[in-house]
Amino acid sequence: MAEVTENKNFIHAFIDEDIAEGGQFAGMTVHTRFPPEPNGYLHIGHCKALIIDFGTAEKYGGMCNLRMDDTNPAKEDTEYVEAIQEDIHWLGFDWADRFFYGSDYFEKTYAFAEELIQKGLAYVCELTPEQFKEYRGDLTHPAVSPYRDRPVEESLALFRRMRAGEFEDNRYTLRAKIDLASGNFNMRDPVIYRIRHVGHHRQGDKWCIYPMYDFAHPIQDALEGITHSLCSLEFENHRPLYNWVVEHVSVPHHPRQIEFARLGIDHTVLSKRKLRQLVEEGRVSGWDDPRMPTLCGLRRRGYTPKSIRNFCERIGVAKSPNVVEFDFLEHCLREDLNETATRVMAVQQPVRLTVTNYPEGQTETFVVENNPMDETAGMRTITFSKNLWIESDDFMEEKVGKFFRLFPGNEVRLKGAYVVKCTGCVKDAVGNVTEVLCEYDPESKGGNPADGRKVKSTIHWVNADDCADAEIRLYSNLFDDPDPDASGKDFIACLNPNSLEILTGCKVEAALKNAAAPASFQFMRLGYFCVDSKDSSPEHLVFNRSVSLKDSFKPKK
Ligand code: ATP
Ligand code: MG
Repeated sequence: MAEVTENKNFIHAFIDEDIAEGGQFAGMTVHTRFPPEPNGYLHIGHCKALIIDFGTAEKYGGMCNLRMDDTNPAKEDTEYVEAIQEDIHWLGFDWADRFFYGSDYFEKTYAFAEELIQKGLAYVCELTPEQFKEYRGDLTHPAVSPYRDRPVEESLALFRRMRAGEFEDNRYTLRAKIDLASGNFNMRDPVIYRIRHVGHHRQGDKWCIYPMYDFAHPIQDALEGITHSLCSLEFENHRPLYNWVVEHVSVPHHPRQIEFARLGIDHTVLSKRKLRQLVEEGRVSGWDDPRMPTLCGLRRRGYTPKSIRNFCERIGVAKSPNVVEFDFLEHCLREDLNETATRVMAVQQPVRLTVTNYPEGQTETFVVENNPMDETAGMRTITFSKNLWIESDDFMEEKVGKFFRLFPGNEVRLKGAYVVKCTGCVKDAVGNVTEVLCEYDPESKGGNPADGRKVKSTIHWVNADDCADAEIRLYSNLFDDPDPDASGKDFIACLNPNSLEILTGCKVEAALKNAAAPASFQFMRLGYFCVDSKDSSPEHLVFNRSVSLKDSFKPKK
């Protein structure tokens, strides 16, 4: 794959225009914000958005605010706020002292609503939710509100009484007076405040009226001095309302909203609601289950910040919806780990290999490279003895097809050690192979026979005398169906029942005895594995397969 080149996207083109001489933000510092709603953990889709927000600020030497969008009073939780902060820091971004809550602006937002009323640009409406639907009109008929011409003083008095808690939920709304005939339904006198007698996680019972997102968000952006409010495409039709709000309330500044396509990934779902359901129904072990597309799940799976940032940069920023293959995300991880992961040996499905002509009780050491891709990674010592473990599928009692590994009479190279020749095997009463027997060639130290004869295969092994036991967790797609997120589909029915396979009694080389998260390794011939950050300990090692070695991603021509 090509190296990441500077990513020129349409957002940057707009910004260049805006900050150039004569542009609307000429001479100003580029200022963006990332506004997650703290009602769940961040997933890879949010990650795209936050990399655009923080990354754009970084590129222009600007600033990016982190703002918890807690305008909506329900379901927010400090657990999520902390997790969101941790994830953003992990990716390598920082908001410095610019951490805000949308709810901190409630008092100001309220004042702007009164301002609109006073300007004759908002009114208290008493259509019931049912009537509201009935009166909203269609493309050829304008909406109707019998309360549109309510006198300013009356609306103001009612709005104050709404705030004072005199009315039950939905009894009144405050609507912006814009255009009941607009072809854009968001402009048909949208509701900007509603009554909800619900406590707020930070404001407590102070409020029983809450601003709608479309009113609160542009105000929050404007008050923070945001120049570019970058958001996903579903807000495109809301942009005229965004602009209307910042033009009609007396905010000091008018940010520009620019929309980009949401990220979709195949074989997974990117919706907090659906992810929460997986957690709550126990379909996964938690938000950080290594199969989850959440940042904490990907982190526990062994994803690195670099691989994720690379992924987001390479998928690019566009206006057209993009569904990216999970294979591509894996490809980006493999590429990073190939450069950084220490190579070690581990055996997933062990069978004993006894080197019958090697002296009992003797131990020999070999010095091997930690990472052929990285000269600075150094060397490590591995030990060899008569008693080894190898993968059971590296042995066949009778060779079938193009099998060039161990079978009676054949020679293989034990990675980094000696060439051995298979002489037979031992079986239990029911015919299972319990031990493979071989003889080593003392003249092949390091893996090459002194007489230059060819040895076709190399297999990995560990020394049974000093290795450690480990549990290995193999993951595959959480969903069988490539598009479980499609509307109308029962995504639960699309789950892959075999997305987690647990192997116990695996054998890992002695160097891994004290391995601790977040260490990642290449288990030679098997894949990249990381130490599980929750369940692993020196007494019970647990490794997660981050990604296999085989790359199934094929770049489109
Ligand atoms: P979800 O449906 O998963 O709850 P959301 O959009 O409601 O997503 P927010 O917390 O409001 O979640 O999102 C914060 C920011 O992340 C928003 O600016 C939103 O546009 C963006 N975002 C969310 N999902 C994606 C996605 N799949 N691709 C790109 N951006 C996204
Ligand atoms: Mg949202």
